[in-house]
Amino acid sequence: MATPHPRCSAEAPVAILSFHSHSDRSFLDDRELALLSGVLRDAGIANDLVLAVITREMERDDGESEVERRLVEALADYDPIVYERVWSPGLVERLRGKLPGKLFVGLRGEHVLLDAAPADVFCDGEAQRVLPPLIRWLRGESAAPPQGILLRAEGEPGGPPRWLAPADAVAAPAGSVRHAPNLRPVVVNPEALPPTRTFSVTGNGGCPFQLDARQNALYAGIHIPDGIGRGCAFCTTGNHYEGRPNAETAASVFEQIRYVRANAPELTRLVLKDQNPFSYLTWCWQDALFRPTAPHPSAWIVFPLCSFGVLILGWLVFESTRPSFGDAL
Ligand code: SF4
Repeated sequence: MATPHPRCSAEAPVAILSFHSHSDRSFLDDRELALLSGVLRDAGIANDLVLAVITREMERDDGESEVERRLVEALADYDPIVYERVWSPGLVERLRGKLPGKLFVGLRGEHVLLDAAPADVFCDGEAQRVLPPLIRWLRGESAAPPQGILLRAEGEPGGPPRWLAPADAVAAPAGSVRHAPNLRPVVVNPEALPPTRTFSVTGNGGCPFQLDARQNALYAGIHIPDGIGRGCAFCTTGNHYEGRPNAETAASVFEQIRYVRANAPELTRLVLKDQNPFSYLTWCWQDALFRPTAPHPSAWIVFPLCSFGVLILGWLVFESTRPSFGDAL
């Protein structure tokens, strides 16, 4: 059977949906989606990060909210519409109903929403690598889809959809991705955001607490798939740990800060996300903080968050009237 070939508009920009369900001063930001938006831009694919803050009236989940009405209006000019984390599968259903003819692409996030919030295409592989060739294929610009996607097909009446891996898929090109996030989202309800927003930079991804559940007698007889089962059982962060050398990590953090400060000076509060930044924090910051001529953050707050006290957030506060910290690094 020939691979179905869903199509999106050949000209319309891509929308990457980002929902904020919390105060903006959180580590649960849309950094990864901002990076993905930057990757598409660098690949020559026009796109926007479309951000909506979930309000109380949206939580009723009946579609009768002003924000959802504005969201539908905002998405009218985009195709396809890409989403990862949504707070309700009903939202996806309603958007599909109100935006007929548009293609919906789901991304694999922390939780797989394959059947709960079904898209037309599910991007099961690494989005930064798979999405650019996927968009080109959906636009009809290339003959074969990239590997790492699933196409939705109708299942039994009343049952969940079936998902098909295209037989003629080709490997998505590998390549390094520069840190160039889209720092200017299209905000559907800006009045719901605090006046000062944050953006996060990362040190080493994952968590150094790598206890393997396979070694734990409590899990005896339980099949634990590859890639999961490390760290705390309730947390997916521990499934891997990057653990780069200190110099490399510090250079990467500085590069991220420089980019944000140069491209969005209005972002005066940066959150450093790292489960174990202690080994590089002291020497990493001391030069920048204590060099006599160097402008520097006006405050630096570090506090534990994870239930085991491992996750540390460093909160770097920049005064917008002062020179850029990033310029001095
Ligand atoms: S809960 Fe904390 S310590 Fe446990 S795996 Fe997650 S991040 Fe690591």
